[in-house]
Amino acid sequence: MKRECKLCFNESDDIIEVEEMMFGFKTYFEYLYCDSCQSLSLINIPNNMVDYYPRNYYSFVKRSANKFKNWISKSKSANTLGDFSIIGCSVRFLTGRNSNLKAIKICKPDKNTSRILDIGCGDGFLLDKLNEQGFKKLFGIDPYLEKEIQKNDYKIRKESVEGLVNEKCKFDIIILSHVFEHFEEPHSSLKNIYKLLESNGALILRSPISSCYAFKKYKKNWYQIDAPRHILIPSFSGLKQMCEKLGFRLQNYFFDSDAKQFLISANYKRGIPMISQNTNILKTRFYPKGMYFTIFSRILNLKDKGDQATFIFQKK
Ligand SMILES: [Zn+2]
Repeated sequence: MKRECKLCFNESDDIIEVEEMMFGFKTYFEYLYCDSCQSLSLINIPNNMVDYYPRNYYSFVKRSANKFKNWISKSKSANTLGDFSIIGCSVRFLTGRNSNLKAIKICKPDKNTSRILDIGCGDGFLLDKLNEQGFKKLFGIDPYLEKEIQKNDYKIRKESVEGLVNEKCKFDIIILSHVFEHFEEPHSSLKNIYKLLESNGALILRSPISSCYAFKKYKKNWYQIDAPRHILIPSFSGLKQMCEKLGFRLQNYFFDSDAKQFLISANYKRGIPMISQNTNILKTRFYPKGMYFTIFSRILNLKDKGDQATFIFQKK
C-alpha cells in the first residue's frame, strides 16, 4: 500500500519497522522512506504520544552544579560567540563547539536589542548560556513543560507556536534545535514560525538528516529515527526545498554529527536501549573507538553526509 511522504507528499511503499529504543519500550512503529526526497515519515502518530515523553525526558540534558566546570563552560560559550580566551579556545578544541552558539554568531545579533526565541527550550539550557553572555531579550516556549518557569532575567512559557502567532509576537532570531522532527504538522508549524520572524530575521534549524551515511549503514537501528518521537526526519535537499517554498533563503549551514551516530546505533543493533548506555561525550571522545568515530564523523560532516545539520535560514 502506498503512503504519503510528510515532507514532499510523494507516494511510495518502502516501509521500515522501528523499535522505541530510547527508554527500551521496544514497541514497533512504521516509517515511510520517501523514494523521491529520501525523508522518513512516521506513518501513524500514536494517540498516547505523551507516554513517550516520560518525566525524565529532559534529564538527558545534565547540568553541573560544579562552579569550576560552569566557569569553564562559560569561557567556552564566550569563545564560540567570538570573544577570544586561551581557556575558552582550549576547551572548545577539546570538547567541540556548541552548534547553537556557532549559528547565533553567524547571525550577528545585538546583545541588547535582538529578540531571540528558543522553541522547545526545555528548562532553558541554551537560553541560560545566552543570558550568561549578556543577551538581554530572551524568550522560551515549550508545550511539554509542566508549568511556566520564571528565571531571573527571562521567562519560559508553556505555550505553542500558534499561541505566539495569535499574540502577534515578533522575533529577530528563532531557534529550533532538534524540535522540527517532533512537529506533528511540520508544514503549518514552519509557516507559523515564518510569521513570527521580522523580515530579514533568521531561523536556526537543527535536525537529524536522513540522507546520511549512518542511516544507510544502520537502517532501522539508526538512533536518530528515535521512534515514535521523531515524526518527520528530513533529507538535506528535502528540508532546504520545503523552507525555500515558504519564503526562506538558505544563508548558511554546517553538518555537526558526532560519534554517537555510530556508538549508539551499534548498541541499538545489539538491543541495548539509550538509557542503559553511557553516552558521556568526553568518554566517547577519549577512548580509541570514540576517537576513531569522532574523526570519521568530521569527514562525513565535510561531505554533507553526517547524520545531523544546522541550517540558518533568512526570512526574505
Ligand atoms: Zn518525500
